[in-house]
Formats: sequence, structure tokens, C-alpha cells
Amino acid sequence: MVSRTTVCMASAPSDDDDLFDQFLSDHGHETEQVGWDRSYNKKKCPECGGLHDDDATNCSVCGWAPVP
Ligand SMILES: [Zn+2]
Repeated sequence: MVSRTTVCMASAPSDDDDLFDQFLSDHGHETEQVGWDRSYNKKKCPECGGLHDDDATNCSVCGWAPVP
């Protein structure tokens, strides 16, 4: 699970690397998604991409729920 740190050593620069570095800065070593993605005015499950109404507390498709 921790092998993703090797991504930082990759020599090929990309916007994704910058975003990943920024993400690491904000969240330390944690790479887990802890909140809903957004799509328009819907909540979007980061695990399966399912869309849910704003009052959804977990994903009815795959069972994912945000970590408080
Ligand atoms: Zn889901």
C-alpha cells in the first residue's frame, strides 16, 4: 500500500505529479479519498463514480462512505 511513494521519484514531469505532491502535502502519507467528489450538484462516489443526491451518507452502489 505504501509503494505509491515511489511515484515521487519518477522523472517524467506531469500535472498529475504536481497534484499528487500537493495532495501529499495536504494529507501527509495518506492517499485515501475521504470525502465525496462532486459532479454538478450531485455527490459522486470516488470509488465507483456513482452519483447520489446531496443528502446521501454512503454509496448505495458500492457501499463506500466518507471518513469523518
Ligand atoms: Zn460507490
